[in-house]
Amino acid sequence: MASTNLSVGVVGGGVGGLSAALSLLRAGFDVHVFERASMLGEVGAGVQVSPNASRVLHRLGLAEELARTGVKPREFHQRRWDDGSTLLRSPLAEPLEATFGFPHYQMHRADLLDALATAVPAERIHLRRRLTSLVDRGDRIEARFAGGTSVEVDVLVGADGIHSVVRDELFGPEDPHFTGCVAYRGLVPADRLRELALETTAQLWMGPGRHFVHYFVRSRGLVNVVAIVEQDAWTRESWTDRGDIADARAAFDGWHPQVRQILAAVDETFIWALFDRAPLERWSSGRATLLGDACHAMLPFMAQGAAQAIEDGATLAACLAQAGSDVAGALRHYERLRIPRTSRLQALSAANKVRFHLPDGRLQRERDAQMATGTTDFAFDAVAWIYKHDAAAVERVAGS
Ligand SMILES: Cc1cc2nc3c(=O)[nH]c(=O)nc-3n(C[C@H](O)[C@H](O)[C@H](O)COP(=O)(O)OP(=O)(O)OC[C@H]3O[C@@H](n4cnc5c(N)ncnc54)[C@H](O)[C@@H]3O)c2cc1C
Repeated sequence: MASTNLSVGVVGGGVGGLSAALSLLRAGFDVHVFERASMLGEVGAGVQVSPNASRVLHRLGLAEELARTGVKPREFHQRRWDDGSTLLRSPLAEPLEATFGFPHYQMHRADLLDALATAVPAERIHLRRRLTSLVDRGDRIEARFAGGTSVEVDVLVGADGIHSVVRDELFGPEDPHFTGCVAYRGLVPADRLRELALETTAQLWMGPGRHFVHYFVRSRGLVNVVAIVEQDAWTRESWTDRGDIADARAAFDGWHPQVRQILAAVDETFIWALFDRAPLERWSSGRATLLGDACHAMLPFMAQGAAQAIEDGATLAACLAQAGSDVAGALRHYERLRIPRTSRLQALSAANKVRFHLPDGRLQRERDAQMATGTTDFAFDAVAWIYKHDAAAVERVAGS
């Protein structure tokens, strides 16, 4: 339990903000979440929750909720775009759970968010609170919201996503970087794809300039579909928009029939411009810090953006609990523990853009030969450093 009764304001009620709020509440802090939207919600799409994240969520008491709708895939199956041949199969079920102690889930994002939101007492979530500015008052920090309301807290956590206002307030504005990729996302009722007899695996199909991912969510009732395509520029005003499924189908023309059949079954799609940011040197200033996409937005090509946000909350709570009233010291310790790990994942995710999208030729053959050795990409040993991490196990800093 926390040795002081610090008040913590979390700005943003996404997966990162809510899981941090829960970690902080369980550690004994007085936590309130401030979300700009009028209701908590997530896009209609899937998310993979790897063991490093489920370890945190299970300890927060969500094991039953995750198991209720989450799907445990047997394997991660990486395949070639045209003939569907296997590049790598890596186990995700029993061997993974036996080694890392916690399961890998495929979830509907709304189910994950609901599980988190239900666990945070309703009186601690404040909707329609759009943060506009911060004022450092030395022994407290003031958060100001649109409409003229404000709160003062001991610690302020910016979990307000890639376009973070907290980040701008702490370190100055900086536009996120368009990665040259867009993602078409959709959900298909599993019944419609029955004739494909899809395995309960996460499948990733790699091809020139694009890749395709699908997996079951919501107790195998829906198939989550993500079609990633390279594109020179993003000219739309919003960074996510209703997409035209015909464009996605055209982009995967000539691909394996399974890919095309899945795309043919999608009724509605959203298109997302994928942005990331260069790793930051600092996440914290005084009594304020950042977590999740606000500080380490990454391409989704390691499926670790939300998982790392969940880890951030657990580490932050552990650092604050350990440090007593030394908030600035705790936040420095937190960022020192987190930045190397999330920076490495940002770099790996960016490198996968090239690796997954190689045109057929020498480099692609070299990649495939490496994958065949079972030691790279999502091979069990290659991802062990990610999955075995215990984000709440924080070493004491000397003197704390
Ligand atoms: C195609 C795709 C697939 C992905 N797949 C995976 C995956 O399989 N596994 C995985 O781990 N990750 C995945 N990710 C990454 C993951 O979605 C993000 O990293 C994660 O959602 C970030 O969570 P967050 O809470 O930091 O930010 P967000 O989810 O963006 O939440 C930010 C919240 O802050 C609120 N907010 C914003 N500004 C303000 C303000 N001024 N005041 C108050 N509230 C504010 C927003 O309304 C929102 O609720 C994927 C991403 C994409 C695009």
